[in-house]
Amino acid sequence: MYPADEGITAYLTHSACAMHEMGQGHPECPGRLAAIQDRLIAAQLWDYLLHVDAPAATHEQLMRVHDEAYIDRLTSMVPGHGYVHLDPDTAINRFSLLAAYHAAGAGVHAVDLIMQGRANNAFCSVRPPGHHAERSRAMGFCLFNNLAVAAAHAMDVHGIERVAIVDFDVHHGNGSEDIFCDDPRVQMVGFFQHPFFPYCGDTPRGPNMLNVPLPRATTGLQFRDMVVEKWLPALDAFAPQFIFISAGFDAHLEDEMSSMGLVEADYAWITRQIKQVAKQHAQGRIVSTLEGGYDLSALGRSVAVHIKELSGL
Ligand SMILES: [Zn+2]
Repeated sequence: MYPADEGITAYLTHSACAMHEMGQGHPECPGRLAAIQDRLIAAQLWDYLLHVDAPAATHEQLMRVHDEAYIDRLTSMVPGHGYVHLDPDTAINRFSLLAAYHAAGAGVHAVDLIMQGRANNAFCSVRPPGHHAERSRAMGFCLFNNLAVAAAHAMDVHGIERVAIVDFDVHHGNGSEDIFCDDPRVQMVGFFQHPFFPYCGDTPRGPNMLNVPLPRATTGLQFRDMVVEKWLPALDAFAPQFIFISAGFDAHLEDEMSSMGLVEADYAWITRQIKQVAKQHAQGRIVSTLEGGYDLSALGRSVAVHIKELSGL
């Protein structure tokens, strides 16, 4: 079934990720993971993925990118029942921290699977998402920065010297920027609707941050032009040995969270571009981790084309 040069795509998730929820009507809801699973089954991709239960991240793994005092504070805030709000948009229930440990552990384990040659690339279907989580602050539905924890693991444990972060969520990945700005081992490329939450990013915090603010109503074609003009030359020049994707699908035309015009074909296209860079410089190594995407149908369809391209199925 697999083309000889493609290899296996791992799909990591954990049951706890569906037990974290932030109150009725919250857009970052457990149904997102079910919508993704449904669509992968309907698209006949599900059976061909390497399904792996995400282990919990260890304290040591989290502390590579988060302050110990922050982890302790979060732990002390977990409610016995009901919700505790960390900011106006971000709440935790009694399962949230468990979910966050497994969401962060998914990326770490995905890196191990790839470095051991057991998978070629991986998608982490996890929540809470991560790219707004800063070194010592939860924010924007995010508790731990899942992608950052995984990238730090690749560098510190597996000796990867250069990692690229590609963030195509419609919101700026302020957390990843907070953690890796001025780290010469990391090149981050991102775009975001501007002005928009989290109302930063237009002034990059380091020379390794290629942040591209785009106005509302940006079309898929305009997005692709930007990628060809800005992202791809930067990625090529950096020659990453591993690529991490903050895979948010909330720039989709049907997603009411934002006002952008991307569609499935654009997510397939950007995935092919990233794969090409990975093939050229990084032995194909890609870990993609779920960030935003709140229209359940558009999310499921977009993740399906993303995984179809990752897997080559
Ligand atoms: Zn987002």
